[in-house]
Amino acid sequence: MAKSTLHCSFCGRNRDEVKILIAGQEGHICEGCVDHAREIVEQEVTSKQDGKSGFKLTVKKPMELKKHLDEYVIGQDEAKKILSVAVYNHYKRLNQAPASIQTAKNKKEPVVEEIEIEKSNIIMAGETGTGKTLLAKTIAKLLNVPFAIVDATVFTEAGYVGEDVESILTRLLQVCNYDVPAAEKGIVYIDEIDKIARKSDNPSITRDVSGEGVQQGLLKLLEGTEVLVPPQGGRKHPDQKLIKVNTQHILFICGGAFDGVDKIIARRVNTNSIGFNVNKQMQDDMKSNLLRFINAQDLKSFGLIPELLGRLPIVTHLNPLDKETLRAILVQPKNALIKQYVKLFEIEGITLTIEDEVYDFMVEKAMEYKLGARGLRSICESILTDAMFEMPSSNEKEFKLTAEYAKQKFDYAKIKMLKVA
Ligand code: ADP
Repeated sequence: MAKSTLHCSFCGRNRDEVKILIAGQEGHICEGCVDHAREIVEQEVTSKQDGKSGFKLTVKKPMELKKHLDEYVIGQDEAKKILSVAVYNHYKRLNQAPASIQTAKNKKEPVVEEIEIEKSNIIMAGETGTGKTLLAKTIAKLLNVPFAIVDATVFTEAGYVGEDVESILTRLLQVCNYDVPAAEKGIVYIDEIDKIARKSDNPSITRDVSGEGVQQGLLKLLEGTEVLVPPQGGRKHPDQKLIKVNTQHILFICGGAFDGVDKIIARRVNTNSIGFNVNKQMQDDMKSNLLRFINAQDLKSFGLIPELLGRLPIVTHLNPLDKETLRAILVQPKNALIKQYVKLFEIEGITLTIEDEVYDFMVEKAMEYKLGARGLRSICESILTDAMFEMPSSNEKEFKLTAEYAKQKFDYAKIKMLKVA
């Protein structure tokens, strides 16, 4: 019988010399060449993941970091300082080869002592809308590292309805276009970490799959390990291709309002101050913002497990926003709200000027409606929407925003619906 003319178009072996010959449009490939091709693809992908992504980290000194934060975030000095130092140390650790110093106990035999700088993941406690996310976002932008925001409430313990904690890393991969080396030096902001506090002191009653279960799941991620990440997020399933990400150099910043933690702090601070001569004014002062005394012990009493707190060694707080700060937020930051509106009008060729009392009015409403800084934007919108609707079609070149106009527009706006009873 004549030898088959069918052959592998890659290695040239004939049909009877190979086990399988897969047909393509204009040729064939044998099982050996398929294997070989797969190896080439894998090598190519790994070499891309091994730092050839062109990603470059810019590290700034703590004071420079704080100065930059000052341009975008008003107040919150302590949080800024703590964050700047933590981020600086984190990236210093990361830029160093495995740290080791040589100490010669006796001259003949040098001893290599490994000094490992531990990761400085951070917890920020503060009312909603006080700038926690803004701080994390601003610092990530300055360092030019991938940054992802995730919400702790969407996660559940593996195997339950909800998302696996690994999908935190999916977000990070997505923002940097799946550049693994870049993602491995990124920053993740986990919002609402307080919502995964342990539900009860007795874990045996029911399984706490969205509380303690998630905290357990987060442990390995925060500590630094290799994690297999589903590229599209959601639940992992058996035949999905997973991406390996090492979390050792990813900085995790967690934020939460920790409603009610002030009572825990008050109890601790009171107990500690028994026997000391704490005068009334000092007591009042302490009570006005107890959050500034927050520590890991309070967070443990709140329901975060000690193992998780161990991996979030830096605890800081954000102050509630007072009228003065809200006013400054309106006009001072580099991309302050008011500056944005002035720009929007300017693009139309209109000069927007705002009466001083308008700012007072806006701040008053933000305080009254308990909307914090987050509410300033909706207040501005409700006041300026009509003008932004009408003026582009008019020939006016100037718009003077008066307190009277602001009040009138605000009263008509739907924002009333948001009023907190
Ligand atoms: P949080 O994460 O604490 O709930 P955000 O950081 O998301 O609050 O703040 C919501 C918005 O309010 C921000 O986009 C920002 O415009 C504004 N904001 C809040 N706090 C500040 C601040 N201290 N300085 C400047 N803007 C602020």
